[in-house]
Amino acid sequence: MGPGIFIKAILQSSFSLMVFGWTQIIMDIQPLVVLITGEGHLHGFTHTYIGAVLLAIFSALSGKYLSEIGLMFLGLAKGEPIKIVWWVSFLSAFIGSFSHVFLDSIMHADVEPFYPMTLDNPFHGIVSVSALHKVCSYSGLIGAGIYYAISWRLKKT
Ligand SMILES: [Zn+2]
Repeated sequence: MGPGIFIKAILQSSFSLMVFGWTQIIMDIQPLVVLITGEGHLHGFTHTYIGAVLLAIFSALSGKYLSEIGLMFLGLAKGEPIKIVWWVSFLSAFIGSFSHVFLDSIMHADVEPFYPMTLDNPFHGIVSVSALHKVCSYSGLIGAGIYYAISWRLKKT
């Protein structure tokens, strides 16, 4: 979520953090089922770039309406209900699923991002897991800072 908050700060209303977050949940349903049942490949087809394309399409289609409802319940839509336009939903879902595969491929040896071309995972271990966690949390903190700084400035003008 950290990088998502950072991207939100940069792209502002061209990016839906809700759809991005929904995509993260969709992406990890398969590993969760594998963990619970103890069967199958932990990071299987969902954690490939081809899988990411399919899950992004699904997440964008389902996430647009779910996020609009979610924003309403969170009270983030003051006055007019917030509408998420389709291209924003798709952009957010694609950024979500591709960054998910990329970050998970650094962390987990069993991710095969370029399946079926190759089963190699060239990104595994390019940075340490603790460095990766730091990048994610700091990008979230910095992103939140930028986001609120921009909203504060917009309110003043
Ligand atoms: Zn994952």
